[in-house]
Amino acid sequence: MKIKAQLAMVMNLDKCIGCHTCSIPCKNVWTSRPGAEYIWFNNVETKPGIGYPKHWEDQERYRGGWAMKDGKLDLAAGGRLRKLAGIFYNPDLPTIDDYYEPWTYDYEKLTSSPASKQQPAIRPKSLITGRKMELDWGPNWEDDLAGAPATGGQDVNFRSLEAARYLQFEEVFMFYLPRICEHCLNPSCVASCPSAALYKRDEDGIVLVDQVRCRGWRFCVSGCPYKKVYFQWASGTSVKCLFCYPRIEAGLTTLCAETCVGRIRSVGALLYDADRVREAASVAEDTRVYPAHLSVILDPDDPEVARRAAADGIPEATLAAARNSPVYQLAVRWRLALPPHPEFRTLPMVWYIPPLSPIARVEDPGATEGGIDDMRIPVRYLANLLAAGDEEPVRLALNRLLAIRRYMRSVRVEKKPDKTVLEEAGLDPSQAEEMVRLLAIAKFADRYVIPTARREADTDPGRLQGRAGYPEDA
Ligand code: SF4
Ligand code: SF4
Repeated sequence: MKIKAQLAMVMNLDKCIGCHTCSIPCKNVWTSRPGAEYIWFNNVETKPGIGYPKHWEDQERYRGGWAMKDGKLDLAAGGRLRKLAGIFYNPDLPTIDDYYEPWTYDYEKLTSSPASKQQPAIRPKSLITGRKMELDWGPNWEDDLAGAPATGGQDVNFRSLEAARYLQFEEVFMFYLPRICEHCLNPSCVASCPSAALYKRDEDGIVLVDQVRCRGWRFCVSGCPYKKVYFQWASGTSVKCLFCYPRIEAGLTTLCAETCVGRIRSVGALLYDADRVREAASVAEDTRVYPAHLSVILDPDDPEVARRAAADGIPEATLAAARNSPVYQLAVRWRLALPPHPEFRTLPMVWYIPPLSPIARVEDPGATEGGIDDMRIPVRYLANLLAAGDEEPVRLALNRLLAIRRYMRSVRVEKKPDKTVLEEAGLDPSQAEEMVRLLAIAKFADRYVIPTARREADTDPGRLQGRAGYPEDA
């Protein structure tokens, strides 16, 4: 056993209001440079939809992530020989049109135009060519189901569902899906890089691109199944979400989490057995990857785990953070949060609590009771998104969320606590109260439990100076 620490995030999709506030500080701080105009380390998609870049979840198109080949785990796009053969032409890359051609406007014209009977109008201008352009796609083109009749049916999460039925007015559903890099335990971006420029930090598992080593081959871009590495065309290097590591090192949460209006995000530390990562990613059935992934994460309250972690060099502050981790509570102890597309086998570490949705029985539109099968968002759709098609873990999470909602209503509104609704979901009142606290009313200190960086082992502080951020020209 080799114990490592990992910073992870849980996003509660039940609470995301699609305000995009999270994307803005991230954009301002990390990708507001020339060459990065089209890059959104944090973006928020509307589901159903094909997302940003288009069809990112479709690995038949992009061949990202890992796959089992002859019983062995291998990059879905092929190993070193295939990389070498295609080093000057990689057919699996998304094009700029799959993201979107970034644009701006001559805003000054609005104020400097001569007086006239009509309001002055300005047309979009490409930030790449400088020419006027027509807009036909953007980073959030499908916002609030805009265009869903055209693109929604191509959403791969409709697998084994009749997409056309769920895109009709009476049956349609929607929810928001905020996305950042998953800082995976088994990152295919790292394994795809011919220059070994990507690496996973030893102390907290954050995945970064070394801007000096990067040669711009872009195999990380195609290798990431979540399409969360981007090519920065002004510097000729790849860039990606850094989990705001300069803030994390100071014990602060990420910008997207700090600014989240819906308070949907929790950030915390996990301990895992690094020696078992490959084994977990190599289980034969796609639906077994999530349980195997869970089994790699260790119980921070287990004295033996604590002893081994200390022996493996994990600082006491990180151990304490792991014991108080909201991520461990939500994802591992309570099984409320699930990893997106575990079948990509990268073992992602940003997990999602599936959203509850209104009861959708048309004959009784005012109904408030009903089971998760009566809800507007099909369980099967969520299972395809969060559990490789296995409905069981999604049902467990949704049933628990529904049970605590009903229990709290019986406590607060009806003033007659109804424990039976909890028992059916395998919960007791103290667990329910604790879940409600963390899901609904937790303060900053409960939602973000982040150990500060330990640098006393570094003998040369001057070496670290100025390393928190991108160089001027990146
Ligand atoms: Fe790498 Fe992040 Fe993609 Fe995982 S989600 S493969 S860590 S870029
Ligand atoms: Fe959702 Fe929070 Fe982002 Fe708003 S700031 S879109 S609530 S994740």
